[in-house]
Amino acid sequence: MLIDPEQNSLFPASLRLPGDYLIPITTTRPPIGGVRYWFRCPVEHDRKPCGRRVKKLYLPPEQVFGCRECHDLTYRSIQKHDNRVAKLARDPEALDAALKSENLRRAGLGIDALMLHVKEMQKHAW
Ligand SMILES: [Zn+2]
Repeated sequence: MLIDPEQNSLFPASLRLPGDYLIPITTTRPPIGGVRYWFRCPVEHDRKPCGRRVKKLYLPPEQVFGCRECHDLTYRSIQKHDNRVAKLARDPEALDAALKSENLRRAGLGIDALMLHVKEMQKHAW
């Protein structure tokens, strides 16, 4: 798996997706305790990655995963609750399959579900 919660503070980890996608993951430790997980936006501008620390990456049609700023999405369109994501987050096997999917859109759902899953686990961890 990609996340090692035993690791200390900021550690380099990446989520590898089909099609040579490598999405860096980073953590922070908030003062109240625990660990927060973040993606770093992999969209390149002039060969330098955007690198923004974000909770969510977006995959518009025919494009690549990137942060909200890189894709310039509207607030409205990203607030939409996605039932498919919630369903995946409750089903570890389906989640695993989605993350390994050759279909990037499916993999994207998997990423969202993974974050939701982590969030739920954190709620119960302390
Ligand atoms: Zn970005």
